[in-house]
Amino acid sequence: MSAHRWTAEVVVVGAGAIGAATALELAGRGHEVLVLERGGGWAAECSWGNAGLVCPSHAGPFATRADLGNAARWMTRPDSPLGIAPEPALAGFLTRLLASTRPSVHRRVLAASRAMCLDALEGHRRLAEAHGTGLQQVGLLDTYETPERMQAATAAAAEHRSRGLRPEVLDDTAVRALEPALGAQTVGGVLYPDEAHCDPVSFVEAVGGAALTAGVRLETGTDVLSLTPDATGCTLETTSGTVRAGRVVVAAGTASGRLVAPLGTSVCLRGGKGYAVDLAAEGRDVPVRPFMLQESRVAVTPLGDRLRLAGTMQFTAADMSIDRRRVAGIRGPAARLLPGWADATVVSVWAGLRPCTPDGLPLLGWVDEHQKVALSSGHAMLGLTLAPLAAEQAADLFEGKPVAYAEHLRVDRFALGRGRRRPASAV
Ligand SMILES: Cc1cc2nc3c(=O)[nH]c(=O)nc-3n(C[C@H](O)[C@H](O)[C@H](O)COP(=O)(O)OP(=O)(O)OC[C@H]3O[C@@H](n4cnc5c(N)ncnc54)[C@H](O)[C@@H]3O)c2cc1C
Repeated sequence: MSAHRWTAEVVVVGAGAIGAATALELAGRGHEVLVLERGGGWAAECSWGNAGLVCPSHAGPFATRADLGNAARWMTRPDSPLGIAPEPALAGFLTRLLASTRPSVHRRVLAASRAMCLDALEGHRRLAEAHGTGLQQVGLLDTYETPERMQAATAAAAEHRSRGLRPEVLDDTAVRALEPALGAQTVGGVLYPDEAHCDPVSFVEAVGGAALTAGVRLETGTDVLSLTPDATGCTLETTSGTVRAGRVVVAAGTASGRLVAPLGTSVCLRGGKGYAVDLAAEGRDVPVRPFMLQESRVAVTPLGDRLRLAGTMQFTAADMSIDRRRVAGIRGPAARLLPGWADATVVSVWAGLRPCTPDGLPLLGWVDEHQKVALSSGHAMLGLTLAPLAAEQAADLFEGKPVAYAEHLRVDRFALGRGRRRPASAV
């Protein structure tokens, strides 16, 4: 009798947007896949409550040099969109984040991120058509309440136009005509008509459901405790027993770093806590398309009979507590800028940890010398957007094919000295 509870050609750890899409892609290419998830089902953690935007216009790193002044001001306010937990473990991450604001790095990351998002949007269209993910391609509206920011957005729109996006700059009258929920304080906006949104849970459940139909097995309530790769495969110790896999994809979101750390590749991955506050429509007209309240960094997404407000980026190791001041920092601007929703009933408040790298680009590659364990995480603010592309990238890595954008995604790109893997084992 086998000593293993389960065996599989490929084990995917994590049933979020990245894990579900990767499992579907691998199964579609003929691989036998088992997904292990510590939660109760698909989209148990960060993929549950995000803003649902599929948004190439929001591609790019966390900050430019010019943003740093804003960041310093925000960090002193408990209700601001940005926070940094006072945790010594964050020092290395923040040092690397600052380094990635260098103009040359910023330009490279922005170009790669935007190209990946545009590819991923195509992938979303294909998944929506094949599996009914609920994607709605009705555009995304960036809105502004200060003339200075509107002016900067107009300049950015010109740059976006030269990069394949199709922004439409709107004045105050046009923006309110397009989105009547916006009040008098909104001075203008930029519409990105090709962008899309979906209910993130519906997306992951549709993709995960399609994976099950394609033969993928999902075991929930199974926490993967350790990975031990060798020349022929990988043994996983889990809370449900020992599992043997030919190869493994770690798509465990923020928890991925801890899982792969003992395997010899030093990866830099931290949580970026964000909140979602769902409001009940209760007879109000729900906006047709999502929009951003840009000065406050709050995303507003229509989800059936709810309006989701999402925002805040608080870098932290793993703190999942809900800070009412951050929630107020999301509700306050929304109440001011969407006066008709100021007294709407809150039906849920949620916090999730985005898996963040210092430059905002994902990590994809083998993390062990035997090339049995691959990491696919670090999709930060764009994990829902990038999921279809991440799935193709991981499957190409497994099949030894060229991986799109591999040069930007090296798992050891933030490591110093011994944590760096030899080029042969990098993607
Ligand atoms: C407020 C907010 C708004 C956002 N808005 C957007 C948006 O509009 N558009 C966009 O593209 N992105 C958005 N994001 C980012 C997006 O949600 C994430 O990038 C994405 O969900 C990451 O997916 P994932 O599969 O890597 O991680 P997760 O969804 O966290 O999935 C990882 C899974 O692994 C499981 N797991 C972890 N450790 C183990 C283990 N040891 N054993 C077994 N299972 C394990 C977890 O339970 C979890 O289910 C937002 C995030 C937040 C917080």
